[in-house]
Amino acid sequence: MEYVIPAPPVTSLRVVGSDAQFPVRRIYCIGRNYAEHAIEMGHDPNKEPPFFFQKNPDNILPEGKPFPYPAKSEDVHFEVELVVALKTGGSNIPVERAMDCVYGYGIGLDMTRRDLQGEAKKLGRPWEIGKAFEHSAPCGPLTPADKVGRIEDGSITLEVNGQLRQKGDINQMIWKIPEMISYLSDYFVLAPGDLIMSGTPSGVGAVKKGDRLVARVDRVGEFAVTVE
Ligand code: MN
Repeated sequence: MEYVIPAPPVTSLRVVGSDAQFPVRRIYCIGRNYAEHAIEMGHDPNKEPPFFFQKNPDNILPEGKPFPYPAKSEDVHFEVELVVALKTGGSNIPVERAMDCVYGYGIGLDMTRRDLQGEAKKLGRPWEIGKAFEHSAPCGPLTPADKVGRIEDGSITLEVNGQLRQKGDINQMIWKIPEMISYLSDYFVLAPGDLIMSGTPSGVGAVKKGDRLVARVDRVGEFAVTVE
């Protein structure tokens, strides 16, 4: 195949224990999936249908690269999240079969231009301007599920400059991983390479240049980013 312009590169993530990379197709992100975070954002955490937004695959900032403070915002927030990577997909996937789709797990940051997101919410506009900007998805390497099993609980934390800022447990997710996969597959055709960012516990806050963020998830490991 010959293209009239250079073909865009495929974004990929390192896989722990492998020389091969995981290619990224789409990034789905769930909103308000931990009750205490829903409350801190001014919402009722009662179990309403989930809602999702997307980031672009090329928004991923791979490990080892600094996060450049983005343009047009004075209130850029961190949100630590467990990332679920899919090896298969489809439509109308039942909850009981959803975990068969999971390739592995990673640790990601759903970086957010909170001021722009807030304006968009107020005006009933889409969220991309606050969520899907350049480098807005720092993401560490993936750990295959066949190495760690199903992740249904375990601590998820974020430290900023050595201070604990976010702390939760994966078992506090309102919508569990198989439920998210099943729900998404009713509305979209899921496919190998899709990532799901599974929501953030409470404690989100603003970053400033020079901050060092260290995210940890039990059994998945640790992922660090510096704001530049
Ligand atoms: Mn988030």
